[in-house]
Amino acid sequence: MPQLIDTISDILALSGAAVERNQEHLEALLPAETARALQLPEHAVLAFEAQTNGVAGELVTYQSELVDRLFDWMQLRGLYAQIAVADLYLKQGVTAVAESRFTVRNGLLKAAAAAERRLQYACFHFKYTAISDEKKEGLARAVINEHTLAEVHEMMAQLSLAVTTEAESVVSLETQPLAKVYHAACRNVRPIISGDLADFHRSLQRRLQRDIARLHEYYQSLKDEIQNKIVRRQLAGKEREDEEARLRAVDLEYRRKVADQREKYAMKIEVEPINLLRINTPAMMVTAELRCRKLGREVSLVWNPLLKDFEPIPCESCGDGLYAMQLCEEKLHLLCRACAHCQDCKRAICHRCHPGKCPKCGALFHQI
Ligand SMILES: [Zn+2]
Ligand SMILES: [Zn+2]
Ligand SMILES: [Zn+2]
Repeated sequence: MPQLIDTISDILALSGAAVERNQEHLEALLPAETARALQLPEHAVLAFEAQTNGVAGELVTYQSELVDRLFDWMQLRGLYAQIAVADLYLKQGVTAVAESRFTVRNGLLKAAAAAERRLQYACFHFKYTAISDEKKEGLARAVINEHTLAEVHEMMAQLSLAVTTEAESVVSLETQPLAKVYHAACRNVRPIISGDLADFHRSLQRRLQRDIARLHEYYQSLKDEIQNKIVRRQLAGKEREDEEARLRAVDLEYRRKVADQREKYAMKIEVEPINLLRINTPAMMVTAELRCRKLGREVSLVWNPLLKDFEPIPCESCGDGLYAMQLCEEKLHLLCRACAHCQDCKRAICHRCHPGKCPKCGALFHQI
């Protein structure tokens, strides 16, 4: 296990300090900004043993305030990083592949030309906490192509094998505003978190059903007893009314207890972003033409060398990633099946052109 002196020496060196280790003390020349943040002089001597053989330095132990300051400072520095992937093999002949990879259900897709581009991706990590009568925490991530807003977290598996540098790199296309990119990440991370929590949720549901079954059994036996009494004693008039009032009270209490249990097992999920990694990587960009009836428009398709595949195209209404799509007949918006129709009157209605409500039958569309 590394000693405190090794860890602190590494952290200071990473911050750009010149660090020299002499036995049980460190001598560091710190960048002015780091020195200020850590409340140290720019020329700092840190001792790790009480006996310093005459070296005058600040004594550092696990309990030192300096260690707390150092970890707080590191957490802030870990919020954002940027890497560039070195040149990768880019598949040739992707134009032909594009036409077979994507399907347009009510039109044509004709790939025209392919060009190499450097693109930018935002990898957001989120921490989620599911709170019920128990608590469960976890991490989830979403990786968004900052130009097309496609979600491509599968590329991270290959990223660890690629050669990367921390240098800033040129991006050959304009990116979408960060707010839009972040919104796409939030939208895409939701099903990932739900998937992670599926077992936890199922176990809560099982326990809820078990508790409700017990309550039902108990209150049913009370009700049976009262009903038997009415029959056995052939109650009538005031006596019967009293017993019937008891029955209603038992029923009310049963419902109240069930509601309490539902509340106890209800799951609340808190999600917070924890950091952002920007990834710059080469890709092949294929320009394709979409045609439907007499209309046409251009679209860019991205072949991602880390995925070794084309990235999906986001539905222009809900953002779901698509390889098979429907075109809106007014403006050729690219749509998923759900966003291309009204679920009530079944007419072809573009949810992008008509957000919120069907113009024909008035049905409300689910807002994303
Ligand atoms: Zn959609
Ligand atoms: Zn409709
Ligand atoms: Zn449309």
